[in-house]
Amino acid sequence: MRLYHNLFMLGPPGSGKTMIARRIPTILPDLSFEESLEVTKIYSISGEINETGLIKKRPFRSPHHTVSRAALAGGGRASKPGEVSLSHYGVLFLDEMPEFPKSVLEVLRQPMEDGMISIARANNTYSYPAKFMLIGSMNPCPCGFLGDTKHECSCNQGQINKYLSKISGPLLDRMDIHIEVSPVYYEDLNSKTKEESSEKIKERVLRARKIQADRYKGLNVYTNSQLSSGQVEKYCKIDSDSQTLLKLAFDNLGLSARAYSKILRVSRTIADLENCENIKQSHIAEAIQYRSLDRKYWR
Ligand SMILES: [Zn+2]
Repeated sequence: MRLYHNLFMLGPPGSGKTMIARRIPTILPDLSFEESLEVTKIYSISGEINETGLIKKRPFRSPHHTVSRAALAGGGRASKPGEVSLSHYGVLFLDEMPEFPKSVLEVLRQPMEDGMISIARANNTYSYPAKFMLIGSMNPCPCGFLGDTKHECSCNQGQINKYLSKISGPLLDRMDIHIEVSPVYYEDLNSKTKEESSEKIKERVLRARKIQADRYKGLNVYTNSQLSSGQVEKYCKIDSDSQTLLKLAFDNLGLSARAYSKILRVSRTIADLENCENIKQSHIAEAIQYRSLDRKYWR
């Protein structure tokens, strides 16, 4: 029950990973009244609410890697909602993901599959909604400078491998989009390239959401990321050229079988953002790009 395409970013310190994560809620559609109510309820149970009235902004949560299992999942004496629920309908950002203990990351499994979390107490089980977009980030190596043209990386291959292996294949498999972020240098910031505003991007997201809402009317599906494998077959049809490209990618890049539906869902979203009825080869090519970490480290 995944509403969003989860995102994983790899890049050195100072490359703007946190800034990108923080901007994501600003390009998502506004919360509907019902969504606002749900979010407000969670915050009022948790005691985190300061103002009166409905919460209208999509949540952004970024717990530190020292967060406890209970604080992430929820629970404790008062059975309060945890970070996974406090980021309901918003973004849960895990910066420096390899620093989170595996036992803590394990908590994400149920909400990422079911969109909710159950917390068992002595006599009772509580359930809280937890539909969030997961954004994870990590450095390319322990010191952070691997591949940087202006700094020397001080790590040896053994240290790098150990660091990368902290992010498990199955977890990375749940991330639909992998991007590598380059360091931002002063001269780049000074360049004349004009950045698109959040409002402009949001308009495009809204249009793409509308296309999806119309296409999946009556299916209880609102976004491409929610499509089941069967629905992917039906709604993400591709022509024979695209099929050839996809097969080539699988053969040459060693992508996992599970990456297949992901690439199709993401290419459907890319096509919708471009207002294209059919998925084109260029959309497939772009979606394959977003599996870059599969082929780089976790073959
Ligand atoms: Zn390094």
